[in-house]
Parts: sequence; C-alpha cells; structure tokens
Amino acid sequence: MIQDPSSEDIAVPSITSWEDIFGRSAYASDVDGTKTELLDVIAPYRGLQPAKPCGLTNCHTPHNNGYLIVTADNRETNIGADCGKKHFPEFAAQTRKIERILKEQNLRAIVQGAQSRADATRAVIASLRTEERGAEWVTRCLLGLRQAVVNVDPQLWHVLKRRANTGDTVVNEVRERSKKEVREMVAANLGRAEELRFESKPTGRLSGLEVLSNRLDLNANLVKGAEASLQAVVAIDARRSGGKALQTAAKSVGEIDSSLALVREAIASGRLFFTDANLALVAFIAADEAKRKKLSGLTVATLSTKRT
Ligand SMILES: [Zn+2]
Repeated sequence: MIQDPSSEDIAVPSITSWEDIFGRSAYASDVDGTKTELLDVIAPYRGLQPAKPCGLTNCHTPHNNGYLIVTADNRETNIGADCGKKHFPEFAAQTRKIERILKEQNLRAIVQGAQSRADATRAVIASLRTEERGAEWVTRCLLGLRQAVVNVDPQLWHVLKRRANTGDTVVNEVRERSKKEVREMVAANLGRAEELRFESKPTGRLSGLEVLSNRLDLNANLVKGAEASLQAVVAIDARRSGGKALQTAAKSVGEIDSSLALVREAIASGRLFFTDANLALVAFIAADEAKRKKLSGLTVATLSTKRT
C-alpha cells in the first residue's frame, strides 16, 4: 500500500503562466465574493506578466501576484492577497497551509532530483579523486610538502599557511646594502640610513598558493564531506519524509555541490602551485641560507610519490 507523502494529501500545482489558470475547466473570471465562500486556496502565482484582473466582481484590479482559489460553488478564480483577506476569513490560514505544502514539495523535488543523479555524482567524485593530478595527487603533494618543510623549518609552514590565507603571494629577495650605497642614498635625500639598510625586490609569485589555505585544504576532507552529504541524501525516503528530515536532506544537496566546487578549486590551485618553480620559491622564503639549501631540492616528482 502506498501512502501519500504529505499529511494534507494535496499536490500544489505549479502555476507559471496565465494559461495555467485560465485553461482550467472550472475557471470563472467573475466571482461574487459576497454570494459564495472560499472552499480552498489551490496555489499561489507569482510575477505573471502582464497583470490580469482579479476574479472578484467588486475588484477586477489587475494583479501580477495572487492565488488561485476554489469557492464553495466549485468555481475557480484568481485573486490578490489583499482581496482574499478582505473577503474570506479563512484565507490567511489557507494560504499559510498551501505555502507550507509548496515549500515541502519543492524540497522533495530537490532531494529526489539529487537522488536520481546519485550515480552520476558518485562517478564525478571518483573521477575528481583519482584523475591525473586530481584530489589524491594534490593531497599527496600537500602532505609531502608539509612533511618536507616541517622537517627543516617548522615556522616556514606557518608562514606559508598565513600567506595562503591572506593571499600574500609575492616572494621578495632581501639584500643588505653596502655602507657606501646607504651613505650615497642618504646624501641623495632618499631616506634615513636605518630605513635604507635592506633592499627588498620581488623575485616571484607563488601561483596557486590558495591550495594551502584553510578554505581549500583538501586535508579538511572536502571529498569525504561531499560523499557523506550524498550518502545522507540517498538514505532518506523522500516520498514519505517531510518537515525537518526533508529540510536537512535538501541542505545536504546544497552541501554536495558546494563541497565539490571547493574540491575543483583546490585541484585547480594545486595544479598551479605544485610546480618545481614554485617549490624553489618556497625554499627561498625559508629563514636562513642553511634551511634554504636543505629545501632547495624539492620537486613535485618527490612530493607526489605514492607512499605505501
Ligand atoms: Zn482583487
């Protein structure tokens, strides 16, 4: 036995054009609200163009927004919200009920849509994970880099993370000026000696550095997050569920998409960041010459090697 999902046993029709209203067999364009009562609100309509006259005899004001209703004498017509409230005492409660059902219907459609795409979504996740230079590759590179950097200069890892989180991608070469140079610059009124002691000039830019940011960090399990959300969506019986369960599942649908968008962004950033040229720049940021030297041998090939 199949039970209807919503407690009210009503499906709210979707109204997207005036034809959806005027084409109904019970439609009447002129209903005297003083001679009949409201039986039910059938569905809302929103933003229909152009505005068409209200179906109530004493109104006939053109509305773009309103409700399709059915009266006690089984005639259907379109009325605005203000007319409804004025003429029918039950109107406000009825519209609330119909809006609630409609909202639930929309949530159900979102969840069922995601359920019907579940296999395709699983395939997308698997491919993002395992494709060449995909999520697994980026994660291996990240872990490899962290290990290599922390072994040599733990502080450098924090520096890189901070730079990634603030978008500070320019790597400067800092050189100490000779005393003679400084004297000449002071003589030329270019500043005071203590300000002129070091020269700093950009040597490169860390492209794709955002892959190390907290927002994109693949170690934060973005891929697993997408899988978990998908699992939560698939697990629910959308036909029989309502209320909170349906809301939670619809929220999970949104989370699948947002997690996968972040995974794609992380992969794109990772592909930009993990190049030997960038790794040489990373070594350059290290605190001193000895550390720079130790880090100078970093290559993508070593970082991305599969560890068993
Ligand atoms: Zn009206």
